[in-house]
Amino acid sequence: MANLILILGDQLSPNLSALNDADPDKDLIVMAEVRDEASYANHHKKKLVFIFSAMRHFARELESQGWHVIYQAYHPGNAAQSLEQVVRHVAREHQPERVITTECGEWRLHQQICQWHKSLGLPVEIRTDTRFLCTKAAFAHWAEGKKQLRMEFFYREMRRKTGLLMTEDARPEGGDWNYDANNRKKWNGQPSAPPPFLVEPDDITRNVIDLVNEHFPDHFGTTGDFCYAVTADQARQALAHFIDVALPGFGDYQDAMSDNEDWLFHSVLSPYLNTGLLDPLEVCEAAARAWYSGQAPLNAVEGFIRQIIGWREFVRGIYWLLMPDYAHENRLNNTRDLPWFYWTGETRMRCMHRAIDATHRNAYAHHIQRLMVTGNFALLAGVRPEAICDWYLAVYLDAFDWVELPNTLGMVMHADGGYLGSKPYAASGKYIQRMSDHCQNCHYRVQETTSERACPFNSLYWHFLDRHRDAFAANPRMTMMYRNWDRQKPEKQEALLARAQWLLDNLDQL
Ligand code: FAD
Ligand code: SF4
Repeated sequence: MANLILILGDQLSPNLSALNDADPDKDLIVMAEVRDEASYANHHKKKLVFIFSAMRHFARELESQGWHVIYQAYHPGNAAQSLEQVVRHVAREHQPERVITTECGEWRLHQQICQWHKSLGLPVEIRTDTRFLCTKAAFAHWAEGKKQLRMEFFYREMRRKTGLLMTEDARPEGGDWNYDANNRKKWNGQPSAPPPFLVEPDDITRNVIDLVNEHFPDHFGTTGDFCYAVTADQARQALAHFIDVALPGFGDYQDAMSDNEDWLFHSVLSPYLNTGLLDPLEVCEAAARAWYSGQAPLNAVEGFIRQIIGWREFVRGIYWLLMPDYAHENRLNNTRDLPWFYWTGETRMRCMHRAIDATHRNAYAHHIQRLMVTGNFALLAGVRPEAICDWYLAVYLDAFDWVELPNTLGMVMHADGGYLGSKPYAASGKYIQRMSDHCQNCHYRVQETTSERACPFNSLYWHFLDRHRDAFAANPRMTMMYRNWDRQKPEKQEALLARAQWLLDNLDQL
């Protein structure tokens, strides 16, 4: 045997760099479901089902194309429970010349794989992941010498590089780079929210559901009503479904939240992009075609493409540029534990309950729920970045370290000093009221600030500003907030801080 090619659970693409120049007659592919990867976080049961099932489908597809695949299905009694052990086992038996793999999406595993040549006594070739538009090296080059790294400027580079939504004379279609100002409408039930794309589980998925229920009973979430795509074909159908039914409303209602709808106009494509079932460029080109053919408006298509070639690539670049120190950043010195209701959803705060309940059922919540509800609360409450990062890594189907960490530690917690936003996304209950209908069904009163039933976000917001005055008062984008705080009477300030302190001391009772 010439090469042992290791394919990881988020590398399910036939165009994977590890497969370049490979020879099905000589090379051997190894894929493995191992305890070390499945249980280092409290992964949502649906996330385990999705990854194991998508891996099994991909392995079967490779075999049908003539590849020799050694596949280890999960079992607690397997002798090899880490990827290294599996590779060592197979290498001992098949004596390959070298191990080939594509760089993985997590610093922890990357560090381990970088040492395998020593522990295995074999050359280990780690190839660049070509499924991203911007390599780690290209991002580092772009970042070099810049005082500030701003997503918007990176995004424009990516637009130029890909030609997406660019005119022939290299200008942005419609004249502007960014139409975000049009994308902040509240959703009042019209147009009706499109139905989600559903896939009936097949035998492979049903077997994996049984396996996860048997061996991971204590993990977060449920396997019930599993309906995600688990093959590239199904993921492409999910993309076509999104373009047809949801993309036209994506822009207008991108920031909206609803008490009754879990998905609104979002694509729910991140799990497929992050595991390789969909290619980011293919997804963006499909969206761009929808604008050129008049099927979707520019604010929707530009906004959607920006999330993928802008934010998605940008956060990956930040991750690899700043790890491993990045994971330990805590510039606001937060020390509080994660309130228990993040795991149970049992809180009278309606917006939090709805976001956590959807997360528990679907392993999904859309961006504004993650950022402005569960994220915003953790920021205002001063939760330890590590604790909230562990939660986000565990509970979402699309959560992989390279994308979860910068979004949580950077965008939400502002623990990195501001790579993902020039000011923290802190907001009071007013923001949630403006963008959703949660408040009308809530135990708390969004208009009130200091009473027993006052919305917790309100006083916590002022407490956050007050306690971090040194960090933010000089930030020009926050001057107005501090002016509003300073304008309040001392007794009102005192009452707000006292209410917030009570809340902080009693988080688990909310
Ligand atoms: P849509 O709203 O339809 O957006 C389209 C696509 O854009 C997404 O599929 C995704 O690939 C990309 N995208 C949008 N925003 C971002 C972003 N900020 N960073 C990276 N890609 C983005 N995304 C993940 O893929 N994995 C995570 O673990 C993850 N953790 C997050 C944690 C927090 C605290 C926050 C605030 C955001 C997180 N995101 C994460 C980003 C974003 O919330 C999800 O990508 C999005 O909600 C996925 O749903 P969707 O496919 O319906 O997205
Ligand atoms: Fe959330 Fe406050 Fe509105 Fe209740 S009142 S739903 S806690 S923002």
